[in-house]
Amino acid sequence: MSALKTVRGLVEAGLVKEESGLDAVAEKYAISITPAVLALIDPNDPNDPIARQYVPAPEELVTTAEERADPIGDLTHSPVEGIVHRYPDRVLLKAVHVCPVYCRFCFRREMVGPQGLGTLTAGELDAAIAYIAAHEEIWEVILTGGDPLVLSPRRLHVIMEKLAGIAHVKVVRFHTRVPVVEPKRIDAEMVEALTASGKTTYLAVHANHPRELTALARTGFDLLIAGGVVLISQSVLLAGVNDDAETLAALMRGFVENRIRPYYLHHPDLAPGTGHFRVSIEDGQRLVTALRGRISGLCQPTYVLDIPGGHGKADIGAAALVGSDGCFTVRDWQGGEHAYPPVGD
Ligand code: SF4
Repeated sequence: MSALKTVRGLVEAGLVKEESGLDAVAEKYAISITPAVLALIDPNDPNDPIARQYVPAPEELVTTAEERADPIGDLTHSPVEGIVHRYPDRVLLKAVHVCPVYCRFCFRREMVGPQGLGTLTAGELDAAIAYIAAHEEIWEVILTGGDPLVLSPRRLHVIMEKLAGIAHVKVVRFHTRVPVVEPKRIDAEMVEALTASGKTTYLAVHANHPRELTALARTGFDLLIAGGVVLISQSVLLAGVNDDAETLAALMRGFVENRIRPYYLHHPDLAPGTGHFRVSIEDGQRLVTALRGRISGLCQPTYVLDIPGGHGKADIGAAALVGSDGCFTVRDWQGGEHAYPPVGD
């Protein structure tokens, strides 16, 4: 069985109604739902949190004034095709602009998909590698896109070999949905392709709901870890998917139980047609504060906002400490405020 990529396919699978009016959405934004994701969707639940992430909705045609095609400003920091150099010590290498699934909230939705920016040609890849080689301050290369794990192990191996030849690059990080949405792609050959002598490989697993961490996904995580890959998580805070403390707690615990260290919880970006996923920053802060008391320190993600315009990430977790001149007020996880240093007790 292959992925569902058309409105007709969604209708036949019982995910949307015949008269859903989604053709206009499909013309604008790519659709793809893999068999592994389809198996997780409860077609009888109109609010299913898995379906909400992957099944297109008419709200996607509504674009608000603050939304923008390049919400995190990739293009402002792209010195050569495929490279985003936003911070001194690291670059994004966007080798590919297709994904196994198309997330309805995607921050790069204007760049990914069959009509997106395409895959780097051999010449463009060589130019991107030459840029990395020429900049000795680059310590880490982050493969993202698109989803780099849609590339064959052979092509990933070629990229890793090229990076292995650059002494100042110490860490290679992959950002991917594949272990969750197409877990069978994670096999011994893939794991080998992701590692290279002298480099440390990190892999950020993108999942937003605890039900995405299946037994099959776990098999892939175990293979990656056994192959020497360090796993971290990334999630997006999404209305109707994970914007309650219980779901977020289960997701973060799920990561830790799978030996994936929680890393980023992204505030949703201002991508076009994604307003129905947006949570207020105040609500996001309340949620991450609630996690503090509810679950172990091992399970705490960093709540971040990518500042529009390409200004990078900012930690926007609720400030637990306010004050100056040595007198502070510290807020606990239940909202109680305490003087520090303590006064009178
Ligand atoms: S896998 Fe990542 S890049 Fe691809 S559609 Fe989903 S969020 Fe966007």
